[in-house]
Amino acid sequence: MIGSEIENLLLENQSDFLISADKVAHVMDTNPLTHALLVLSKVRYSKIPVLNAKDELVGFIGLTNIVDEMFDLDEVDPDNLNDKKVSDVMDNDITFINDIYDVERLFHLAVDHPFIPVSDKNNKFMGIVTRKELLKAVNHLIHTLGNDYDLKPKKVEVRKFG
Ligand code: AMP
Repeated sequence: MIGSEIENLLLENQSDFLISADKVAHVMDTNPLTHALLVLSKVRYSKIPVLNAKDELVGFIGLTNIVDEMFDLDEVDPDNLNDKKVSDVMDNDITFINDIYDVERLFHLAVDHPFIPVSDKNNKFMGIVTRKELLKAVNHLIHTLGNDYDLKPKKVEVRKFG
């Protein structure tokens, strides 16, 4: 469990870790794959969220999802992308959080996920928390602890039995 003092230090420089939805590159599930290819090439992120018409997170898409579609048995054919939609190839195994202040869970999830999507109670997509934002907070924490606190190891109690 993360102690409240540590949690306060992690959040000392920002009120939360959220990158709000309006700043997150995304595509819609109904978009043609060619559009997703264009967006991914422009933003240069390996993976971005996929939303539906109700602004709910429904999946993720990356360049590899699209490039895989271009492969025939022995050649690459971009024409294979015609008539295909984002929802045909996206990953729909989604992990997300509702509570951006659940710092403990955010750090646990960040071990396996480069970013963690955030949705509100009605499933509306609110944005993402990235490893970079979390690492910035850790960077602040380790410098503050080292410079401003006098850290001493807790006393280890040695018990004798018998
Ligand atoms: P970072 O920790 O900043 O390297 O971001 C980790 C991952 O989060 C990136 O590789 C992207 O998949 C995703 N990501 C970060 N920022 C954005 C953004 N503004 N829009 C969409 N996806 C993003």
